[in-house]
Amino acid sequence: MLRSNTEEDIRIALFSMEIGIDHKMPTYGGGLGILAGDILRSCADMSVPIVAVTLAINKGGLFQRLDDEGNQIELPTDWRIDDFTTLMAPRVSVPIEGREVKIQAWEYIMTGIGGYQVPVYFLDTNLFENSTSDREITYYLYGGDARYRLLQEIVLGIGGVRMLDALGYTNIRKHHLNEGHSALVTLELIKKMKEDNPECKYEQILELVREKCIFTTHTPVQAGHDRFPAQLAKSILRGFGNSEIDGICHGNELNMTLLALDHSKYTNGVAKKHGEISRNMFPGYPIDSITNGVHHVFWTAEPFRKLYDEYIGGWRKDPFDLRYALSIPTEEIISAHAEAKRLLIDFVNAKHNAGMEYDTFTLGFARRVAMYKRADLIFSNPDRLVNITKNTGPIQIILAGKAHPKDTEGKELIKTIFRDMKRLKYDIKIVFIENYDMELAKLIIPGVDVWLNTPKRPFEASGTSGMKACLNGVPSLSILDGWWLEGCIECVTGWAIGSVAEDQSNDSTDAEDLYDKLERVILPMFYGDRDAWAQIMRYTIAFNSSFFNSHRMVQQYLLNAYFA
Ligand SMILES: *Cc1c(COP(=O)(O)O)cnc(C)c1O
Repeated sequence: MLRSNTEEDIRIALFSMEIGIDHKMPTYGGGLGILAGDILRSCADMSVPIVAVTLAINKGGLFQRLDDEGNQIELPTDWRIDDFTTLMAPRVSVPIEGREVKIQAWEYIMTGIGGYQVPVYFLDTNLFENSTSDREITYYLYGGDARYRLLQEIVLGIGGVRMLDALGYTNIRKHHLNEGHSALVTLELIKKMKEDNPECKYEQILELVREKCIFTTHTPVQAGHDRFPAQLAKSILRGFGNSEIDGICHGNELNMTLLALDHSKYTNGVAKKHGEISRNMFPGYPIDSITNGVHHVFWTAEPFRKLYDEYIGGWRKDPFDLRYALSIPTEEIISAHAEAKRLLIDFVNAKHNAGMEYDTFTLGFARRVAMYKRADLIFSNPDRLVNITKNTGPIQIILAGKAHPKDTEGKELIKTIFRDMKRLKYDIKIVFIENYDMELAKLIIPGVDVWLNTPKRPFEASGTSGMKACLNGVPSLSILDGWWLEGCIECVTGWAIGSVAEDQSNDSTDAEDLYDKLERVILPMFYGDRDAWAQIMRYTIAFNSSFFNSHRMVQQYLLNAYFA
């Protein structure tokens, strides 16, 4: 196989519980995994010497069906990892409850724009040598109880370091822990450093480990951080020794975020505001921020790819050039969008009998259905919404999103939305598309006129789907949280809901503000001033896509972390 780099040349290793590579490979759940995929796509394009490690997720993430009431029916996603990857020869093992659990790795090669290849390894315990329950450790994404989760994190962190060694990646300079799930990398590195440097004191060992680790935190709420009882960790990881485990615990707890923070020389949040929140949450730790970005070619729909190819020749290689979208004639932008919109409207009409129209203002909202994202905020005052439609201009709404199987509130929320849809059906066309995944994201996001985001502050660490919208000339209407605090120039790149001054969200004032913006600013412009509308689309591309892309993000990782 042609390889532009050898194992020894690879200097960076990215560890992530999920990686979104291809919609046919259901090894991701949402934003976190897709971000990891975009990081790697950019690294491949820019020839960054990186290797990635994740879990096989043999049974695939959840496939969502919805019945007429909006009940989420959860089906396994049928897939075979060997359709996409190659099995590698080396095997390693990790000590779990006194057993040696064997791990194999599947290799996927991601190829960049210039042919540079980035290897991704999927760790897999589904081996005959393992007991039935150990074979299931890599089956499900975020499934099972605390013990199951810890076993997965042992395979990812400890197994990951061992597998890279076995595969010949002996020159890793930085281990990038994407979220706390992989923090046990540090435990294995401590062990290795001690063996390699028997003369060093523990403090020196820690310093050596810190030199080798980078940590990105993604969660602005305490409850979102993985924590395990120290007792559980000791009993499962007894192969490492009690004092070793005590050394990485805080009190009675193994806290994966603190573990990663303690052992990383560089830590970052995923947007400026999220960095600030993280510093407040973990006082004493120096936490920087690198704002997320999305891969520009991957997330741009065909009509816009053609347009950029024609007007901004170098954009595929260098997305900073998207700044020059300012020179694209607005009629061309309007017609590229019309084409992307037609594809989406045809899809919802054919598949959902939605009866939607090409010329009607279309609002889009799709992401994980988690309570803080408030997918139902737009329906909180149905009478007002209907009034706006009747008096200002028609609206049609396209929604999608899966709830986590264990998130009963999230599942209830989908049912609530279905009830809202039924109540409103004579006045507003609304459709909820099943099984939101990367492929649907590529159809829905470019095809709507405005991308809506209504998270409760301050829970949106960054958010990335609004960045995908920018690449397709779709402005956002969003709560000022996460990336939108940086990306929103009012009435230039989109519109804000609420003001920066408020630190907490209030459902009813947010909803009223959302309706006000639609009624007074957005709909009158959409239906009455096409030139002004086209300008906004163009500014959205020029100002935001030239910055909120993953090439810029990776360059910041290179500058501040990978080769700092
Ligand atoms: C981009 C994306 C997400 C993340 O969207 P956010 O706006 O960050 O919540 C989730 N799921 C899919 C399928 C996506 O493409």
